[in-house]
Amino acid sequence: MKDLIIFLDSGDTLVDESTEVRDERGIVQYAELFEGARETLLKLYESGYTIALVADGMRESFENVYNKYNLNHCFKVRAISGDVGCEKPCEKMFYHAMNELGLTDKDKDRIVMVGNNLKRDILGANRVGITSILASYSPRYDMRPKNENEIPDYVIASPIELVGLIEQLDIQYKNRKILTRPVSENAVFKE
Ligand SMILES: [Mg+2]
Repeated sequence: MKDLIIFLDSGDTLVDESTEVRDERGIVQYAELFEGARETLLKLYESGYTIALVADGMRESFENVYNKYNLNHCFKVRAISGDVGCEKPCEKMFYHAMNELGLTDKDKDRIVMVGNNLKRDILGANRVGITSILASYSPRYDMRPKNENEIPDYVIASPIELVGLIEQLDIQYKNRKILTRPVSENAVFKE
């Protein structure tokens, strides 16, 4: 069973924003995914991770894109700014996803936020107190943190790198739990 919870951004994390085609209302009708993004999302889903879409935009845009690639089922819940009423780094976006999943503050050490935007995804995750992972492969965003709060905990250079990193973090989380497990009555510790 997987312990780690994955919050995923969409634009320029999974979706290549340069390929977006919008209608007159600004709703995305079509967009391509980055190479390896579909495989990454499916692999994480099939491995048993809980995945939330935490993204700025309109619900219809995301449904159009992820339906086209048969990926909508990968997201257990969604925090979409058009519904929530504010955009990242707004804390409400992150807490909305946590609430939808029935998670509380004590679960924060097993939640990761993956996104391309330092000022939105990374800053927001760092402020809320969850692990931040920068998707650094978009050529359209400045990847240089402007202050300490924009420094990501981890960086991936391609979508597929996320699979290995998440596996490692899940193992680390499980191993760390040993440090807080109840001590057996028969345990004898050396100084
Ligand atoms: Mg983005």
